[in-house]
Amino acid sequence: MTAVSPTMKALVLLGPDRFEILEVPAPKPVGDEVLCRVKAVAICGTDPKIVAGKFPGMWPPSYPFIAGHEWAGEIVELAESLQASAKLAARFAPGTRVAGEAHKGCGICSNCMTGHYTVCLNYGDAASGHRHYGFTAQGAYAEYIVSSIRSVTPLPEGLTYYDGAMLDSAGVALHGVQRGRVTTGDAVLVTGPGAVGNFSFQYARASGARMVMMLGRGPRLQQAVDMGAIGVDYEQTDDPVARVLELTGGIGADCTIECAGMQQAIDWAIKGTRKGGRLVMAGLPTQTIEVPWGTMTLAELDVLGVRANPNTAAPALALMANGIVTTKGIHTHTFPLTQFGEALATFVERRDGAMKVVLEP
Ligand SMILES: [Zn+2]
Ligand SMILES: [Zn+2]
Repeated sequence: MTAVSPTMKALVLLGPDRFEILEVPAPKPVGDEVLCRVKAVAICGTDPKIVAGKFPGMWPPSYPFIAGHEWAGEIVELAESLQASAKLAARFAPGTRVAGEAHKGCGICSNCMTGHYTVCLNYGDAASGHRHYGFTAQGAYAEYIVSSIRSVTPLPEGLTYYDGAMLDSAGVALHGVQRGRVTTGDAVLVTGPGAVGNFSFQYARASGARMVMMLGRGPRLQQAVDMGAIGVDYEQTDDPVARVLELTGGIGADCTIECAGMQQAIDWAIKGTRKGGRLVMAGLPTQTIEVPWGTMTLAELDVLGVRANPNTAAPALALMANGIVTTKGIHTHTFPLTQFGEALATFVERRDGAMKVVLEP
């Protein structure tokens, strides 16, 4: 067990595009929380926008703030109240390696009660017990984080902290595959071969898809193809939708998982899905997107939104642990937390093939 110091180094956001490594008080676990030593934390696609102050008053709600939510680390302390339960004290004993989750629902609203805690009806109301670590509550760009035990999952043996830091992307992908009801024999189309897209391909294949088509371009597409996806390269084809139809006997994909969040990719995703198929929206557009509702209505498409990674941590990690899903080639770069600026630029500019960039506090 690591000794807990009363202060810690953290990457503190001081305002839009202003951040500094500062020595701040270490948080204390209360209620159902554990204190964890953060060992690895990956930069999320949302993080550069949070750092730039693109969500004023929301993420973060105020400054100073510590962001970061795609983390793994080691439990170093349990809240006193947890120690009263022998079972919980054993499951979350100091020394336990865990991967974190960003969302912790209030636990009492009707969505939380039915397991849909990433769409908690008390979102952002800290007094209700809701937490969104790294967004509305202190995150993991720090030596320590406190987290509810609901939002940490023990890392299976054989997985590294780096693997654990991929759980957010992997869990989002698995949630999308489950939302899309991907089943044995399905033809699946994934648009956008980034981290979530690559994991979507892997979890769709693990779910029995007979083929997974990946629509994209460049080295990220090539990587998915090297791993067994059928590439649909929109730079090499005039009409990527025609290629998808050709590959599926003129019908289209049973399930499409859209991971790009861009107008053109969404158009292709809609047109590449069969009548009566499922369209999973895992990419988060930052602009208003136009969609052909009439076409979608008449095609009876099931459109399924994806918010984060509810209830997927254990199976997502288990499939990594048994080798069916890999983080190889997805986690590409590692920096000490003190080099956050460099790491952020590497991630945003995709310097030398950067996909997931991990920081070590
Ligand atoms: Zn994330
Ligand atoms: Zn709730």
